[in-house]
Amino acid sequence: MGMDKTSQFKALDERYYMPAFSRDMALVKGKGSLVWDAEGKEYIDCVAGIAVCSTGHCHPAVVKAICDQAHELIHCSNLYYIPHQGDLAKKLVEITGMHKAFFSNSGAEATDGALKLARVRTGKKKFVAFVHGFHGRTIGSLAVTYKPAIREPFEPLGLNCTFVEYGDLEGLKKAVDSDTAGIIVEPIQGEAGVIIPPDSFLTGIREICDSTGALMIVDEVQTGMGRTGKWLAVQYTKAKPDIVTLAKGIASGFPMGALVAREDLEFKKSEHGSTFAGGPLACAAALATIGVIEKILPDVSRKGDRFRQGLEEYNPRIRGLMIGVTMGDKCPEIQKKCAEEGVLVNCAADGNLRLVPPLVISDKEIDRVVRVIHGALGTIVL
Ligand SMILES: *Cc1c(COP(=O)(O)O)cnc(C)c1O
Repeated sequence: MGMDKTSQFKALDERYYMPAFSRDMALVKGKGSLVWDAEGKEYIDCVAGIAVCSTGHCHPAVVKAICDQAHELIHCSNLYYIPHQGDLAKKLVEITGMHKAFFSNSGAEATDGALKLARVRTGKKKFVAFVHGFHGRTIGSLAVTYKPAIREPFEPLGLNCTFVEYGDLEGLKKAVDSDTAGIIVEPIQGEAGVIIPPDSFLTGIREICDSTGALMIVDEVQTGMGRTGKWLAVQYTKAKPDIVTLAKGIASGFPMGALVAREDLEFKKSEHGSTFAGGPLACAAALATIGVIEKILPDVSRKGDRFRQGLEEYNPRIRGLMIGVTMGDKCPEIQKKCAEEGVLVNCAADGNLRLVPPLVISDKEIDRVVRVIHGALGTIVL
């Protein structure tokens, strides 16, 4: 008897791959909101690569854009103008209402770029970020990421950052001084478990930035690109950021990140760069992704409301298709039960069940997800 396919993945992983992840499934195929594991079992994917597969898995328009471009030119370097790069920058500037864009390969690198831009243009040194905030795991972005368990083993990080309670404008006023280059904030905290602040929090940060000269850096890596029903979550408020970072959903799973900044805020010659960033394939994938999202964006909030109705009794926190439900320490068990019933969900921090399905998820699929979650909870005493 041979090993099942998942065991083969596991055996190679245990022997040859550094054990930084906890996992027990292999996903090998996807289409729309569905994925299949190595044993052929089908799931509705409410994880979507953690809010990445925005247009669903292997959307034909995205696949075609990547394949077409792969036949023409895969890489050439930013020493040259790059196919699709200018078109994508224009599109991002238009949908975000910002002035210019710069690309990276991930969310963490987008954070690093934003921190560098804030420092080099303000000439100031320090940053303020928020408790339970997440901005990435590079040495730079880690310095503004809260979670002590993932940050402290790597200190010193060479970047002075003060953490303030999320939502605490009085505390923020005290933490910002004349040497603060930027305040970095998620408009909805994602890794923390979908924590939605009042609109007045973001407008309050804007006011503090205006009075101190610190830049307002809004990390939309998870919330951006239509996830919440608008291109940016900050567009639900009147606050106008100085810098916005994007990644996860931007290219349907092709690695890419971006920052967009307001007028008079840009990198000058040689101040920043990256070999792969803004390459032809990534830009083609992102442009196709935006084309798909443009069509489905008006429906995202309605789909979120459908989840809201279905999950009402559990007091879900919902904006568009970013959904958090507090489940406590039973969260991993619920995640497991849902998987058994063919629905992938994810436990974010503090026992918060997080659902970030593809934006293309259908009403029928939403109803099935809701039924499965009710079923899982029915068998588990909270
Ligand atoms: C995921 C995430 C990041 C980091 O993105 P990577 O692509 O994993 O480096 C940064 N900020 C937020 C808000 C995120 O959700």
